Amino acid sequence: MTTTPVPTYRLRGLDILGFGSQEEFLDELFADGRVKTGLMIAFNAEKVVVCDRDPALRRIAEQAAYTYADGISVVRSIRRKYADGLPRIAGIDLWQAMMSRAGRERIPVFLLGARAEVLTEVERRLKDEWGVDVVGGQDGYFDDDQRDAIFERIRRSGAAIVTVALGSPAQEIFMHECHQVYPGALYMGVGGTFDVVAGYVKRAPAGWRRANLEWLYRLLSRPARLRRSGRLVVYAFYHFTNRL
Ligand code: UDP
Repeated sequence: MTTTPVPTYRLRGLDILGFGSQEEFLDELFADGRVKTGLMIAFNAEKVVVCDRDPALRRIAEQAAYTYADGISVVRSIRRKYADGLPRIAGIDLWQAMMSRAGRERIPVFLLGARAEVLTEVERRLKDEWGVDVVGGQDGYFDDDQRDAIFERIRRSGAAIVTVALGSPAQEIFMHECHQVYPGALYMGVGGTFDVVAGYVKRAPAGWRRANLEWLYRLLSRPARLRRSGRLVVYAFYHFTNRL
């Protein structure tokens, strides 16, 4: 079978892979009965702007095995710049599809991040609903001096997939450092996904998602995010003045 190469798009110097669909992405990650290794980083408008000001995050993104457009603004910018029909792949949907597949294929998973009660509920759901082999978990509120021990625990767990929910850029930094200790896993940054899956945070209703307004729903439902909305204004400026 011949496979079409995945196109790479460039936005403000960042390479973003253009998988044709979530299924295509999953097939690449799980090809030949083995999970790929390296970092998966989802890009939305905010992260593109942060990479402009944070060289450490940019370097991590440059070395990631997989980058993808999970924000509708990034998808629209790529469509505009490359006149291409790229779909949006929402990180939370991709993660759920990966976990369902990991359950079917008995692939070991380590969960890191979020509050302890959230993590416990996510772990319970993964085990009960999808039969996922969860080989370890760690909540996201630990001290810096525990990091090395956590990296070591992850390595010893033998996890093939490590999902990291710390928010950005903490999760990217964690994945990068852990990958150096244990390069044998696929690391996926999932932001606030655990809170939604555990039922502590409501995902945007279907109508908002269909209207491509999931970002606005999240912005309005979390006043803390409003303080960061200046980055979205910067992004819109880049988009409309062809600076992406
Ligand atoms: N989080 C964590 N440790 C921290 C800060 C945040 O585990 O020190 C978790 C938080 O509980 C949430 C996730 O990181 O589950 C994402 O947080 P948030 O929604 O604030 O991130 P954003 O998506 O806005 O970057």
